[in-house]
This record gives sequence, structure tokens and C-alpha cells, in this order.
Amino acid sequence: MISHVYLQELIARTNIEELIGTYTPLKRAGRTYKGLCPFHSEKTPSFVVYPDSQSFYCFGCGVGGDAITFVKKINNLDYVESVKMLASRAGMKLPEEDDAQGTLRSRVLALNRDVARFYFACMNGEVGIAARKYWRGRGLSDATIRRFGLGYAPDSFGESLSYLKKKGYTQEEMLASGIVKKSEKGNLYDVFRNRVMIPIFDVRGNVIAFGGRNLGDEKPKYINSPETLIYKKSHTIFGLNIAKKSTSRRYILCEGYLDVISLHQAGFDTAVAACGTALTPEQVRIISDYADEVVLCYDGDEAGQKATARAMELFSNSTVKVTVLTLPAAKDPDEFIKRRGADAFRHLLDGAGNALEYKMAKVKEQYDITVPDGLLNYLKDCIEILAQQATPTEQDVYAGRLAQETGVEKQRILQQLETVAKNYSKRRQRQIQQDLLKEGINSIRLPLGVSGNQALGAANAEQQLIGALLKQPELLEQVKGNLRPEELILPEMRQTYSLILQRNKEQLSFELATLSGELSDEVMAQLSRVLAQNYEIQFTPGDIQLYLSRIQGAKHQSKEAAKMEPDQLAAYLQKLKQQKKPTDFSGDE
Ligand SMILES: [Zn+2]
Repeated sequence: MISHVYLQELIARTNIEELIGTYTPLKRAGRTYKGLCPFHSEKTPSFVVYPDSQSFYCFGCGVGGDAITFVKKINNLDYVESVKMLASRAGMKLPEEDDAQGTLRSRVLALNRDVARFYFACMNGEVGIAARKYWRGRGLSDATIRRFGLGYAPDSFGESLSYLKKKGYTQEEMLASGIVKKSEKGNLYDVFRNRVMIPIFDVRGNVIAFGGRNLGDEKPKYINSPETLIYKKSHTIFGLNIAKKSTSRRYILCEGYLDVISLHQAGFDTAVAACGTALTPEQVRIISDYADEVVLCYDGDEAGQKATARAMELFSNSTVKVTVLTLPAAKDPDEFIKRRGADAFRHLLDGAGNALEYKMAKVKEQYDITVPDGLLNYLKDCIEILAQQATPTEQDVYAGRLAQETGVEKQRILQQLETVAKNYSKRRQRQIQQDLLKEGINSIRLPLGVSGNQALGAANAEQQLIGALLKQPELLEQVKGNLRPEELILPEMRQTYSLILQRNKEQLSFELATLSGELSDEVMAQLSRVLAQNYEIQFTPGDIQLYLSRIQGAKHQSKEAAKMEPDQLAAYLQKLKQQKKPTDFSGDE
């Protein structure tokens, strides 16, 4: 378990609006920050960050929590990993990483650097003739080979192994690096044999893994390092250590290591590739930290096109502008540059179509626009795309282009666009309302056998009370002698209250951000919602008295209200919501 003191320091060093601001742009609104929710797609901001309570809440989709929950959710990490990520962001020593593990990590890093040198030396030695020939055959210069630290793993089961032994690495360190493996009989052997080697660097320039390619056409073409304590595929971008030094913020995202290397050689120093087979949301976020624009440059085959669609989808939730590069008559950028040269590639890059154009071009391929039916369907689909995804300026520009292309008047296209856009926004608003209602029912979910008006009133009072305690911890003095956890009917609030009491007994603080290790994401979201709804309210001892009497009065609930139908419950919740209406962000939609 991570200590309370550690968590408090972490929270003190973490600026939640700054943290979240790197994922979605935030605008200050009074004492809060507002932005588009990074967890659901929306055009009007309903996502709010509350620096006072160090929490966030989305009024659109109900997601909420503290900085740790945010990191957890957005990166799909577990609690400890999220704390570690925040710690390294805050420049703090990692928690509970005992010295043994820290030492192993740095030993494995050193081992990787050493073995990369060994591979480089092998390539330049007698055994490396074929490898050198291979790299030259790919058109790589000596400078490029050096820059990327390319090398060759000799055709042997034990040469890397004995080199590493001589360097003083232990069996544990070698196994942890993924460079050697243990056979069933218990013997160690080299994983990479007779392969040209491509080191994979982290963003700081440490060698963290290798890709090894066959010299010939035998399968498998590539063998990659397994994931280790220093290498996480889904978090690694090949080429980023070099690209980040570029003055350009336009990145070129390609499919393979060799595409990246040959693009760099041709002068495109922002070429990168995602490690692993499919681009991950985490990789998208890492790239977004460095790039303002990303040009997708995948292979022209079906797999490449699928990857393009996936990448566009992932980037659509980021702040990065995405364009798509289509390579005429070449299967990948490497081949294109070899055939047509760097200038032709740059030319292509500057004229790269954006994501909207790409989508519209894809639609066009589906129809025969020389016949009226095809033309109409093409137009309809494009209007649908523009209505949902384009800004008003883009809508105007593309309506003009479509008009030219189809011979339909621009004014008519714009009218149609407006109708579709209106319907679309109505549909979305309805959806949000339904979700909110559903969320309301979920958030006040009465336990089995407890129901009725009074109980709902009490449930609401419980949430308010817990919210008050989180906001104004000094109020606990008034509550703790007068309320036992068992008196609360909502299990989530009971759990939170017990935790608060326990912390108080241990003379520890209980601000939201120190609770996330012991409460589920659902409970954290509920607490954040309560804080969000009350962020402007200063609770008084009178409020507390009222909540206490409501909670305790509910124990004698009336019988006739005990059976409430779901829609009555929904209507009741709506009423509750209106009485205590949270800050309204839907007004401008
Ligand atoms: Zn949301």
C-alpha cells in the first residue's frame, strides 16, 4: 500500500487542471475549468475540472474522480501504475519500488546498451558482411546506420550470452532483458540469431528493446523483444527520441521501423512508428504531447487502410490535426522515396488531404457517380459526414467543392446540411438526457428492501452530507458523534463514511484524492458528482443538521410509498435534480 504521506505529497505536486489540460484543452470558468470530455465525444463542453476539490466531473457521461482516477481511466492503468505515472510526472521517486527492483531496472538498461554496442560491432566485423550488405541494399548510409544504432546478431545460440556474461551480467538480469531465454532443459540461449538488429529507444534515448529482421525471406520476418520491466509496447513510439528534437511539430506516422529510418535519412526527421501491431490510445496521447499535426502514412494494402481508419478514430479525440497521405504507385514510404525521391515525397506531404477529404474520397469509391442514383447517394453520405464532423467553415468549403463536383447548387447543399446537422444534434441531446437519467437512477440506487420517497430523500441527504464532509472536513466534528455508518442506506456512502471515520481516528486527512486507492471507480465518480454539484455551496452547521435529521427520519418510512415504479422513480429523480440543479452547461447547445 502507498503511504498517506506519499499520496499527499503527490497531490500537492500535481496540478489537476494542468494534468487534464494535456489531454483536452481547458478554459477557465471562474474557479473551475471547462473543456470537451476526453471520455465521450461531444461538441459542447460538459467536462469540468475543480481545482478546489482536486476533482473532475463530466455532466455528459458521468465520469468523474481525482487525478489518479483520471490517469487510470485515460491510460487504462491500474491504481499503482497510475500513481507511478503521476509520480514521475511530478519528479518524485516512485512509491514502493524497493531498491532491488530499481537496481534491476538500471542493470537491464545498461545491459541493453551494451548488447546494442555488441550488435553494432558484430555488423562491422567479419561476421557482419551479409548484414552490411543488407543495410546498404536498403539504401541506408553509414551515418544513418550509426544514428539508429543498427547492428547484427551473429548466427549463434551463445555469442551474445557469453559477451554479456563477460560483462558481468547475472542470469536474472539477462533473462529480465529478453535478450536470452531459458530452454526446457534449463540452458540459456540467444533469442536473436542471424538477424539485422534495430534498437528501440525510449523518449529519453535509452535502448529498451530490439526488433530483429531476417536477412532473407524466411519466416518470421521480424522477431521483437518481449515486454519487459523497461519495455511496454503499447507505450512506445519508435523514432520519438529523435523526432522530439525537431523544430517541426508535424509528425509522420508510418507503419514500420524501416519506413521511419529511410524517411529520416531523406530528411524527414519527425517520422515515427508505433511499436506493436495496432496503434493504442496511449501511443496517440504520447504523440499528441509532441505533435500539432500528424500525417498518417500507412501502407496502401487493406491492412494499412484499416490501420488508417483506426488511427483517425483515435486521433479524433485528441487535439492533433490529422491528415492522410496516399502514396501513388508505391506500397510504403520507403519504396516511394527510393523511386521518386525526397522532393516528390515532400510535395505529397504538403498536399496531404485531411481526414474529412479522406473519408469523402472513400465514400466516392463506393458509388458510381456518373448515374443519378450514385451521385445522390454520394452527396447524401458526404453531407452526413460534414454534418457530424466538420466545423462551420469546413462545411462551407466542402459544400462549395461538392457543388462544383456534382452540379448541385451550393445553397441547396448547405440547406440540407443544416437540416441533417439539426437532427443529429437533437438525437445527441436526447441521448445525453437519457444517459443522465440512467445515471441518476444508478447514482441513487436504493438497496433491496429500501424504497419510498423518504428513503430517496434520505439517500440524497446522505450524498450531500458526504459531499459536505469532503469539502469541509471540519464539519466532521458535528457529524461523527451523531451518525454511525450503519445508519446510511447507500452502500457507497456508507463505505465512504466509514473510511472517513477511520482516517479521522488515525489522525489522517481524507480529501478525495487520498481516497481513490480504497474506493472503486464508481464510488469515486459518485463522490465527484456530488462535489461538482455543490462546488459553489458553502455548507453550514444548519445544513448538516437537516441532512442528519433526514437520514435518521427515513428509518420510519411510510408504507404506501414503498413501491415505486421505475418511471415514477425517474420523474422523482428529475425533480430532485431540478431542486438542486447543478451548474448548467447545456444551455449553449
Ligand atoms: Zn464525458
